[in-house]
Amino acid sequence: MRTRVQKALDAIQHESHEPICAYIYDLRGIQEQVRGMLHTMPVHTHLFYAIKANPDPHIIETLLPLVKGFEVASIGELLKVRAVSREVPILFGGPGKKESELRLAIKHNVSYIHAESLLELRRIIAIVNEREEQGRGRSGEEQKSEVRVLLRINLRSNTLPQTKIVMGGGPSPFGIDEEEVEDAIELIRVEGAGKVQLCGFHFHSLSNNMDARLHAEMIELYLQKVEHWQQQYHLQVKVVNAGGGFGVTYDGSPGFDWSLFTALLQQSEAGQRFAGRGGELFFESGRLLVADHGYYAAEVIDIKRSHGQMFVIIRGGTHHHRLPASWGHNHPFQIVNTDRWKHEFIRPELRGERAHIVGELCTPKDRMHSDAEIEQLSVGDLIVFEKSGAYAWTISHHDFLGHPHPAFHYLTEDDEHVNANATFQSAHR
Ligand SMILES: *Cc1c(COP(=O)(O)O)cnc(C)c1O
Repeated sequence: MRTRVQKALDAIQHESHEPICAYIYDLRGIQEQVRGMLHTMPVHTHLFYAIKANPDPHIIETLLPLVKGFEVASIGELLKVRAVSREVPILFGGPGKKESELRLAIKHNVSYIHAESLLELRRIIAIVNEREEQGRGRSGEEQKSEVRVLLRINLRSNTLPQTKIVMGGGPSPFGIDEEEVEDAIELIRVEGAGKVQLCGFHFHSLSNNMDARLHAEMIELYLQKVEHWQQQYHLQVKVVNAGGGFGVTYDGSPGFDWSLFTALLQQSEAGQRFAGRGGELFFESGRLLVADHGYYAAEVIDIKRSHGQMFVIIRGGTHHHRLPASWGHNHPFQIVNTDRWKHEFIRPELRGERAHIVGELCTPKDRMHSDAEIEQLSVGDLIVFEKSGAYAWTISHHDFLGHPHPAFHYLTEDDEHVNANATFQSAHR
């Protein structure tokens, strides 16, 4: 754990008389990491942040000066980004977009809409028609504004590289089947002329992928596909959005090798041809940007033995951090031993034993880690779950059982020369 996180934990302990339950987001860690990532990216590539991984406004603000823009998948997410910046480029994706969402997205000037079906394209065209009608009625002259779209394509499975990982290329509610590309282009040409501008394509077929070579191979293939469509349909493709899905490991094994990936992109032949034609390659990453910079700290409330197995019960659990339950994994953690004990009676402890770390909910599913090997742990100590910056708080059922929400702390300052109290700003929700 980083020194600044430890210092923040000291300060939190000092401040809190109630058992501790808090998220700590290391905003500076996020900045450092993203700067490092940008450093190795080829010039024709751009990084967007997919805010569904963690839509915390402080994180959006932190990333604003670094990333090219943000990917959102609902009007709620869109407004969160617009609350931070009125101009920053937004990519608007997601299946099942409502007409009201599309209208608002156009009004809020999103850069590109990821069109996910032919019906959605028709809806967009109808909305543009409606705007033109209204514009004409109001000002007497026609309002011209083309809506820029990227077609999200679900490729045929036999065109994607072989892998064990679940990916697109199978039946899915996302995107337009490769077989329908021609219909979509035709629809835009005929009914959408002057209203919808086809600027390129969007793919997102891998999730939490650890294999940088596979990822680069897949992008080579996307670009070959696009090149083929470009020739076949005489298109001008400005943008290819190659999605996110760069992985993070939770078991200590090596994660996604970004520098290898970007080196391979640099060498990619299809990539060079695409760049030569003035094409821009987008990535919209969520997990990789923020996962490692979030910490969820929860105080140990009880330790007990049940039918020969040890249970550690924390102030918090899967209602704040559903990732381990959702994925069925053991979430990595560290223990911070404390002197948070004020009673005369015996302070329960564990030494050199295995235990299950569970939450405060009345359900056996509320488990953060099974069979953890624990050197030394007492009631009142803290369990600090690492890698809790992505898909943790935001995917959780916060109000199930009505326990108070965690506190949120944000680290912005330097490791050194700052007293503990100044290393974080707090916010309670
Ligand atoms: C979820 C999602 C992302 C981000 O995925 P990560 O695995 O967090 O990088 C990007 N694009 C689309 C379309 C998504 O659905």
